[in-house]
Amino acid sequence: MRGASALAVEQTREVFAGVHGAAKVLFYVLAAVATLAFAAYAWKRVQKYRRGRAIGRLREVWEQTRRREKELVAAGRQLARSRPLQTSISAIAANSTVAKRDRATGVAHFLVFWGFITLFVGTVILTIDEDILAPVTDLVIGHPIHFFHGPFYLGYSVVLDVMGLGAIGGLAYLIGRRYTHPPQLDYTRAEKPEEGYSRSALKKGDALFAWFLMAVLVTGFVQEGYRIVATGFPSFELWSPVGWVLAKVFSGLGLGAATAEDLRLATWWAHAIMALGFVVYIPISKAMHMVVDAANLAVHDPASARRLPKPVPEADHVGYRTLADFTWKELVDLDACTKCGRCHVACPAQVAGGPLSPRDLVLDLRQWVDNQSGLHTLLDWEDRPAATGPLSGNGDTKLAGDVIKEKTLWACTTCMACVEACPVGIEHVSTIVQLRRSLVDEGQMEATLQDTLQNFATQGNSFGKSSRQRARWTKELDFKIKDARKEPVQYLWFVGDFAAFDERVAGLSRTLATILNEAGVDFGLLYEDERNSGNDVRRVGEEGLFEMLVEQNMAAFDKAEFTEIVTTDPHSLNTLRNEYPEFGLDKPVLHYTELLASLIEDGTIPVKPLGRTVTYHDPCYLARYNRVTDAPRRLLSALGCSVAEMPRNKDNTFCCGAGGGRIWMDDSNLAERPSENRIKEAVSIGVDTFVVACPKDMTMYTDAAKTTGNEETMAVLDVVQLLDAALDRETLAARRPAPVEVTVPEPAVEPTALD
Ligand code: SF4
Ligand code: SF4
Repeated sequence: MRGASALAVEQTREVFAGVHGAAKVLFYVLAAVATLAFAAYAWKRVQKYRRGRAIGRLREVWEQTRRREKELVAAGRQLARSRPLQTSISAIAANSTVAKRDRATGVAHFLVFWGFITLFVGTVILTIDEDILAPVTDLVIGHPIHFFHGPFYLGYSVVLDVMGLGAIGGLAYLIGRRYTHPPQLDYTRAEKPEEGYSRSALKKGDALFAWFLMAVLVTGFVQEGYRIVATGFPSFELWSPVGWVLAKVFSGLGLGAATAEDLRLATWWAHAIMALGFVVYIPISKAMHMVVDAANLAVHDPASARRLPKPVPEADHVGYRTLADFTWKELVDLDACTKCGRCHVACPAQVAGGPLSPRDLVLDLRQWVDNQSGLHTLLDWEDRPAATGPLSGNGDTKLAGDVIKEKTLWACTTCMACVEACPVGIEHVSTIVQLRRSLVDEGQMEATLQDTLQNFATQGNSFGKSSRQRARWTKELDFKIKDARKEPVQYLWFVGDFAAFDERVAGLSRTLATILNEAGVDFGLLYEDERNSGNDVRRVGEEGLFEMLVEQNMAAFDKAEFTEIVTTDPHSLNTLRNEYPEFGLDKPVLHYTELLASLIEDGTIPVKPLGRTVTYHDPCYLARYNRVTDAPRRLLSALGCSVAEMPRNKDNTFCCGAGGGRIWMDDSNLAERPSENRIKEAVSIGVDTFVVACPKDMTMYTDAAKTTGNEETMAVLDVVQLLDAALDRETLAARRPAPVEVTVPEPAVEPTALD
């Protein structure tokens, strides 16, 4: 054992100074108990995950994640330029998913994250020196070898001090932020259950976690300060700058060396017991996110929501009904939630006053799963009457209907804002759709939705019109659009239901067709063979109907000859681009804004600048699902429009409220429709033109401008209307070849016999 007098010379410190004999044994017993308790509870968690459905081992899921990432990068032109950040390991290291849209919190979390890791590694280094290397060398060569001294000790000290201080600073910010009551940390339930509830335990759990960690960090520094006073300020301890400053403060307050040594020993024990207690606390509390979240992000599916899972082939029921229906990855997902509330404030259903919060959905499912597994998370359980499901464990309790209310599941617009906002990679949308599948299977849905699904089944469209009427909008054109089933075309225009059947939008389809025709673009239609793409049908939870629509569309594609698909409907774009490849589609799929931007840029469509200021609404299925945010802005810029951005733009766009089948359901229960909220956002930035690039948006926002009283002051325009206004028709006309003058030769007069 190194004596105190030698410490100053040796440039080290004694790890167990003042802790000898029985006290040291006691420490090791406590450490062993803490480690075993950690392992036992962590194992219980792993056992819970093992109750989930197998989707391959961690390595296979990891490889599949990387493969899908590459597929997605290859699939979209824009995606190639904007690689999804949330799937990369560097994102975990940089905490970039936490910093996204909240830089201050991201920086604070980064400091805590790396500070904690550094202090943990520091403890491991000490253990190696003190408990492995020294005893082993003592046994083998007769004297202990230590490396914890000299330059190594000095470097170690400064790194741990700086990183530990950073962790305290970051944690102080995160604790302080909670006292400002940001809306995302308001635990009021969106669903507002009549039977009442209490979430006070959730708040206590948050506070306990933060202050517990803070106490562990602070006591480490305090005992360092006492040690420096007790050892008489050896100059090399300047390499422990935080401890040195504290020692100066203590000394300035009159603390002597002997008292400092007593306080040091007491604080050492307090720090050691708290640190070991924290080890036990990790797997039973919010602290588990330190382990689970990194794992969850590493296997986050980059195609999540964009490509929904097929039903489980071996299941004897449709959708999710039991714990065993969840994949192990989805069970990890539920444990990963930190209750940060980013999804809660981003969710249009919650903002509109609907009965859905993605955060509450995840917490309710977690509580139900833990209940089923006999696991309790310390202070993280909500007190709700047993009748609501999660606490009852009753076999009669239905997962979709009781645990998660029917109205909650139907409130989702599948906008994906929750998935995009979640810093830990939770995949809410696919879980919601799995739960919806079981509701659809039991016929638990609104009558209007049921009627619409019937329309899909009989007519292949949501309007319930005969397929022969699908191309009726083309009748008013003074030219005939090519039939791609009869002659090859470069672009196959997949029109979609709204752009074909809705009179308010069909005019825009004619405008686009006319412009493409005038510019000499080679395009065609599937005419009556086109069916609804099935994107929203699948998100409603009607998988069988979706597959039927895919089959019919694939049969139509097989009849046609084309190079690329272009669609006006972002919902169709999503399923054609991301889901149809699983059914054999191997052609690129473009949104019309992508095509028009490139046609203007290469000079095929000449335009004259409009000189207008507009705002542009990013459709969820275009911007968030498929990361097409650049092309519409390039297009608007090429038309001479300057885009004033709304606060929520690009992948942070705000849903119109129509997706996921919501357009076929009653929304009169909402305090304010999402589309109305969005129009008000546009009004707040002082623009008079609201540009859309989705047929459903055209109908939703035209209505919202009316209902919010902005009909006169806010023009809702499709990008095609702006293009029509900017089109340089003179240049187009000049390009057209002059009509060939046909001179009919005089008929040669054959000499007759009469001549
Ligand atoms: S997908 Fe959109 S509507 Fe559905 S829970 Fe997530 S944020 Fe809310
Ligand atoms: S699901 Fe994700 S975004 Fe929502 S509260 Fe949990 S961690 Fe935060």
